[in-house]
Amino acid sequence: MRALRLFAWKSEPRLVEVDEPAPRPGQVVVKVGGSGACHSDLLLMRDFDAGAQPWGPPFTLGHETAGWVHALGDRVTGLEPGQPVAVYGSWGCGTCARCRIGAETYCEKPAAAPAPGGGGGLGLDGGMAELMLVPDARFLVPLPDGLAPVDAAPLTDAGLTPYHAIRRSWPKLIPGSNAMVIGVGGLGHMGVQILKATTATRIIAVDTRDDALDLAGECGADLTVRAGDRAAQQIREATVGGRGVDVVLDFVGSDATLALGVAVARSAGDLTIVGIGGGTLPVSFFSMPYEVSIQTTYWGSRPELIEVLDLAAQGLVRPRVTTFPLEDATMAYRLMHYGKLTGRAVIVP
Ligand SMILES: [Zn+2]
Ligand SMILES: [Zn+2]
Repeated sequence: MRALRLFAWKSEPRLVEVDEPAPRPGQVVVKVGGSGACHSDLLLMRDFDAGAQPWGPPFTLGHETAGWVHALGDRVTGLEPGQPVAVYGSWGCGTCARCRIGAETYCEKPAAAPAPGGGGGLGLDGGMAELMLVPDARFLVPLPDGLAPVDAAPLTDAGLTPYHAIRRSWPKLIPGSNAMVIGVGGLGHMGVQILKATTATRIIAVDTRDDALDLAGECGADLTVRAGDRAAQQIREATVGGRGVDVVLDFVGSDATLALGVAVARSAGDLTIVGIGGGTLPVSFFSMPYEVSIQTTYWGSRPELIEVLDLAAQGLVRPRVTTFPLEDATMAYRLMHYGKLTGRAVIVP
């Protein structure tokens, strides 16, 4: 079968012929219906050095995958061949306190995980292939009726990651509150929709690109603001009494976006850094409004994936998807690198 594989850090992936995987006991092989191209894949190809992660190439890319059950290993119950499923992408040990509640992103025994701190497409073979080996049936979530694998694929990361970040701030997203999404790309455009679908907050979206702001408007943003020198003032003035934004979700994470976030944050608000842009934010007693909580989040939990799939099956959120065949996957990454993609690119083998 064909697979898009990364053979070394700081190199372009190559489409090659590999053996079809066979499931061992407890494992499942999924016939891939779609696998999303994520911005973090660009980091794998361009930025990571040997030793930066406990795992490394070679492996097949694609950590955002859905498809159909293709082959079941011995002892797997509750799944049927042909059944549509989403792959939960962060593969932990399965037995530590975090994994037991489904938060495998924060596994506390990574040495006992299939790939320490990684998963399929992140150290082990992912979904940019015709078939994908999933090492434990618990990583599969059956798709609810009405949701096709190609639409479900981006929900496993571009949907789940903002869902997790938003969900933890729900108590602050009450009627009369303001939320801000910085960066309306693959994750941000889902973030706007998830805010709209699950809260009554007023949604402000910020980006440097006009087409991204148009997309934010289509996804339900109440106000779209072009990033720049006047953005902070414009955003603060748009909140009642200039009090600021209750929940800032930064899907970029650069020096500039973090500075904007803190400039518009309301006291006792949340500033959540989701984007891995590598920026820093000086924190001191006087550098931000009182009781602003600053946190990073990484991906989401298995129960949250079930919830976000249900939101999509109800038609309350819908990823904007552009599909590419496997042979054009490198073109999709190039378009992403140059900011030319709208929404999410999904590779369909
Ligand atoms: Zn990702
Ligand atoms: Zn664990």
